[in-house]
This record gives sequence, structure tokens and C-alpha cells, in this order.
Amino acid sequence: MNHRGLLIIFSGPSGSGKGTVLKRYFEKYQNAQLSISATTRDPRPGEKDGVSYYFVSQEKFQSMQENDELLESAKYCDHCYGTPKKPIENWLNEGKDVFLEIEVQGGAQIQKKVPQSVGIFNLPPSLKVLESRLRGRGTETEEVVEKRLAAAKQEISQAVHYDYLLINDDIEQAVEELAQIIHAEKMRSSRNQDLIERMLENHD
Ligand code: 5GP
Repeated sequence: MNHRGLLIIFSGPSGSGKGTVLKRYFEKYQNAQLSISATTRDPRPGEKDGVSYYFVSQEKFQSMQENDELLESAKYCDHCYGTPKKPIENWLNEGKDVFLEIEVQGGAQIQKKVPQSVGIFNLPPSLKVLESRLRGRGTETEEVVEKRLAAAKQEISQAVHYDYLLINDDIEQAVEELAQIIHAEKMRSSRNQDLIERMLENHD
């Protein structure tokens, strides 16, 4: 099988539990790498620079864009977010599956630039559940929650453009389904042309 890693676009509305699914996935499956994004938003309590995000100024973000350091970028709820390009190619060459936890505008940019990427959309079981998760977080003001809910509906309408849907009701089940998607993707014949060619060349 092909040893190059997969580039995975992992999207879903804020509050759909993307982070929780990925955290559990990384605990269970070591051959995976989460890309750390740059953002202009302020850190939430407990978030560390260089771990959760690279927290940068508007000026720094702009210079990263101008210097072509970002694979994609988007504005989401008044803040800029972007994926640093440099580490990704190295991880893929090392055979690691690289996850981009990004919103839908960025996801569309990656699908265009990297057609062999895999798009997975993480859905909450319902909008009601999503709303209560967003409020339960307690880290955002009512205005921000309202904004994020409106953005969530807009994002969910884009889910059809992704290759797979992951319904995040039960975490363990979602993690197993994610592993199955990745496993099946790696076995696609289109990703393993070399294997077929080698088999035809060597008759032993
Ligand atoms: P949050 O502020 O809740 O951490 O993230 C807000 C949204 O931005 C989430 O949907 C998150 O997945 C997305 N996001 C995080 N990093 C990036 C990035 O590098 N690019 C894009 N396009 N979206 C991102």
C-alpha cells in the first residue's frame, strides 16, 4: 500500500465536537498529526500558543498571507484563521495522516488545491444539541453564541461538498467510524496504482 499519508479536511460547526473526536482519535491512533493553525483571535482560557493555535496579530497574519506561508485561510466570525504550509508536506512524506481542523471556506480551498485530500464533515446529532454544547462551554458571550449558531447553519449547508459525514453522537463510535473511513481511503485503487504495476511487473 501507498506509504504517503492522507491529507484530511475535518470540518464541522463550532460545538459539533470536532476537537473531542480528534483528541480521542489521536490517543488511539498514533500515525496521525494535527496541523496547528494560525489565528488572530484571542486565546480561550487554557489554550496555549503553539499548541492549540499560533496566536498572531493581524499584521503578522497578513504578512504570512503575503509571503505565501498559508495553504488556505479564511475569515470566521470576525477573526482570521489559516493553515501553515511548511510542516504539512514533511508529515505527509513521513507517512503521517495530517488532519486540518478547519471551517468550510478553507475546506473548499484545500479540495481545489489538493484533489486527493479527503473531506470529512462532523455533524452534531441535532441543532438543539449543538446549541446546548455551545452554551455549556461557558466561554463565549451570548452575542458570540448567536453568531456561531448562525455560522453553524451556514456551515452545515456545505456538508454535501464533503466526501463523508461523521455523526457525532457517541464519541467512541464516531472515532471508530473515522478510523474506518481512513482505512478504506487508503485502500482506494486510485491511491495504489504502483502496487498494481509492481504486481504485473514481478511474476514471482
Ligand atoms: P475556534 O475559534 O472555535 O477555535 O474555531 C472557529 C472555526 O475556525 C472552527 O470551525 C475551526 O475548525 C476553524 N479553523 C481553525 N483553524 C482554521 C484554519 O487554519 N483555517 C480555517 N479555514 N479554519 C480554521
